[in-house]
Amino acid sequence: MQEKLSQIRAKGIKEIDEASSSADLNSIRLEYFGKKGLITQLMRGLGTLSPEERPVVGKLVNELRKELEETWEKKNQAILHLEAEAKLEKERIDVELPGRKPRRGNQHPLSAIIQEITEVFLGMGFSVAEGPEIEEDYYNFEALNIPPEHPAREMHDSLYITDKTLLRTHTSPVQIRTMEELYPNPVRIIAPGRVYRRDAQDATHSPMFHQIEGLVVDVGITFSDLKGVLTEFIKKIFGQDRKVRFRPSFFPFTEPSAEVDVSCLCQGSGCRVCKNTGWLEILGSGSVHPNVLRYAKYDPEVYSGFAFGMGVERITMLRYGISDIRHFYENDARFLEQFR
Ligand SMILES: [Zn+2]
Repeated sequence: MQEKLSQIRAKGIKEIDEASSSADLNSIRLEYFGKKGLITQLMRGLGTLSPEERPVVGKLVNELRKELEETWEKKNQAILHLEAEAKLEKERIDVELPGRKPRRGNQHPLSAIIQEITEVFLGMGFSVAEGPEIEEDYYNFEALNIPPEHPAREMHDSLYITDKTLLRTHTSPVQIRTMEELYPNPVRIIAPGRVYRRDAQDATHSPMFHQIEGLVVDVGITFSDLKGVLTEFIKKIFGQDRKVRFRPSFFPFTEPSAEVDVSCLCQGSGCRVCKNTGWLEILGSGSVHPNVLRYAKYDPEVYSGFAFGMGVERITMLRYGISDIRHFYENDARFLEQFR
């Protein structure tokens, strides 16, 4: 009997010693002290012993039970402590770690160019004017010397809302609205804004894009004022070493009219950007047509002026070497972050 007890003792202490988790200890507890546990069975077996043996063996079994219980409890405390520490370590928050920084945004390249161009003109005494994007036919066409049957209307694939209102096809209606507002005072404004055409989207076309309009009206304004202002502007935006060229052109609302080109970075040796011409078309311009002045009540015998308009996307694409206009509207952070 004593041998059996010492075997149970040795086995129990070894198992408790080797236990590495609460789950291990739990199954050991059942193995020894559960309903059918080894110790429980020994206690029950005491009843079958003779009255002489019973107290002797009973004492030994009690001692063994006490020893195993104490060993188990000690180990249990140690494991609970380790497990609590492990849990704390896992859930630990290092308050000294820097937090997640929000991503820093930056100006959209189109906004940046609009601002840059605006600042150049503010420096030359211009102010900024605005007009509605939903425009009346009168301001978008008629008052700009484009009557209903005028072939120039076909150039603008317009998005009409009603018979008489449309999404403006250019920023030029701001010319008329500003003259109406300022008459008979001199006008010197630029008008940046969105314009709309019924164009299918491709690498160089978009149904919505941005223009900047310019208008100067005063007594004694000549074509050389136009040339002076636009040459100064183009050199400020593209660089003092670039050449500027004025080419005769036609617009219904200016007379005479000129397309304005800037020399290409290839310096005339020819490249893909300038299609081997050495020149890049930047804007349209001209002296304000007498009819346009008349629509806004300015007497063309007294007043004269010049107007110009440019595409913001085109200038931004030339400035940064962007080959596809669609990049501007896709909001791809990888594209936009390059202009930080
Ligand atoms: Zn070139």
